[in-house]
Amino acid sequence: MIYLLEDEGGIRNFVLYALNNSGFEAEGFETPSAFYKAMEERLPDLLLLDIMLPEEDGISILKKLRGAGETRRLPIILLTAKSTEFDKVTGLDSGADDYITKPFGAMELISRIKALLRRSRDGDAAAEELTAGGITLVPSRHEVSCGGAPVALTLKEYELLFTLLRERGKVFSREQLLSRIWGYDFKGESRTVDVHIRTLRSKLGACGDVIETVRGVGYRIGGGALD
Ligand code: CA
Repeated sequence: MIYLLEDEGGIRNFVLYALNNSGFEAEGFETPSAFYKAMEERLPDLLLLDIMLPEEDGISILKKLRGAGETRRLPIILLTAKSTEFDKVTGLDSGADDYITKPFGAMELISRIKALLRRSRDGDAAAEELTAGGITLVPSRHEVSCGGAPVALTLKEYELLFTLLRERGKVFSREQLLSRIWGYDFKGESRTVDVHIRTLRSKLGACGDVIETVRGVGYRIGGGALD
C-alpha cells in the first residue's frame, strides 16, 4: 500500500492512476488531517509526500513521522514544486529517502518507488529480531510472539513494545513514550501510556512481566538477565 498526500487534485489523480497501472495499491489524501487519520488505521509501505500543503507543510509532517517509533523508517519520497538546492537539502536533512521535482513523468516516479522499496526491503531483511524473556518481535513482518505463540497487537501496542525492546534496559518516561509513539497526533494525557502498557502486558500473557514499571519514572524492558 502506497499513501499519497497531495492537495492538488490533478496531480493526485495522475499519481494514483500511474501507481494503479503499475500494480500498486494506493490511496490519496488531500489534507494532512485525512492522512493522519488513515495512518492510525494502517501504515503504508511507502509515502509520497507533497511539501506545500494546507494545515501543515510536508517537511513538518516528515519530521513528526521520523520522530515516531513506527514510522521512523517508513520509506518517504517528497514530491515538490520547489527545486532549488536549498530545498533539496532541507528535505533530505529532514529524513526523506528521495526527492522528486514536479512536473515528473509516470515512468520516473514508478522507477524511483521501485528502487526505494527494494532498498527498504533489503534493509528490513537485515533488521534483527528483537527478543526478551520469551518475546520475539520481527520488525520486517511486524510479528510478535510469546514462547512461540503469536500475539496480536494494535499498532500502538506494537510500537510501545518495539520502542522498549529496541533500547532494552533504558527507562522511558511516559512523556518520552508519548512523544515517540503518539507524537504527531496526540491529544490525550500521559495516563494513555499506562492504559496501553496494561493491555500490552495482558496480551503478552506469560511474557507480560518482561515490561517493568520503574516507580516514579516510567517503563523499561530489563537487561540480559531475562534471557
Ligand atoms: Ca501542494
